[in-house]
Amino acid sequence: MIGIYGGTFDPIHFGHLRTALEVKEIFALDEIRLIPCFIPPHRDSPSAPASMRLRMLELALEDRTNMTVDTREIDRGGPSYMVETLISLRAEIGERPLLLFIGADAFTGLTAWYQWQRLFEFAHVVVMTRPGFNAQTIDEFLTNRLTEDRQVLNEYSAGYLFFQSVTRLEISATAIRQIIAKHRDPGFLLPESVIQYIRQHKLY
Ligand code: ATP
Repeated sequence: MIGIYGGTFDPIHFGHLRTALEVKEIFALDEIRLIPCFIPPHRDSPSAPASMRLRMLELALEDRTNMTVDTREIDRGGPSYMVETLISLRAEIGERPLLLFIGADAFTGLTAWYQWQRLFEFAHVVVMTRPGFNAQTIDEFLTNRLTEDRQVLNEYSAGYLFFQSVTRLEISATAIRQIIAKHRDPGFLLPESVIQYIRQHKLY
């Protein structure tokens, strides 16, 4: 099974890294790919350019096997529609199950994503929740795809919705950018190699 984890990663931080590692282990993934977007269609433009957000991801994952960076959204350019990303991934990996991981905050906006229902043609969607998260308030299309059986995700290559609780660290890229803008120390919120890169290039 392959997992993908999209984001702006502006910058990558331990909230992303820890959850990516946890789900890699929980689902026994062969690989989890972090996919930095080029232009996020549903939010403000990132502060750092794509090439630098990509470089920070590479630095953060330097010593990790099976946690990789996938550059297809940056290579493609334009608005980074997830459905297009899944179509191109599917063409590459064949029929293997593909898990798209999204945070519970991103999930609340899912039905506004471009062709969001088609995501399920190409992948399962796994929502990373806090323990105790209540998944009741979802629409019928989503309710019909909901499963509580993790094994189903192995048996089919796409089409199901699953909620997985993870250790959510209260870290956000927004807060990190603010800390840096105020010349305070972002230490222990993100990898030291990324902090050095941010300093070197005077980001944020
Ligand atoms: P920003 O503060 O700029 O909005 P962010 O820290 O939320 O950024 P994104 O790159 O927008 O990071 O998020 C990418 C994905 O990571 C989303 O699915 C989001 O839900 C998830 N995510 C972000 N922060 C955390 C965290 N601390 N723990 C778990 N998941 C997170």
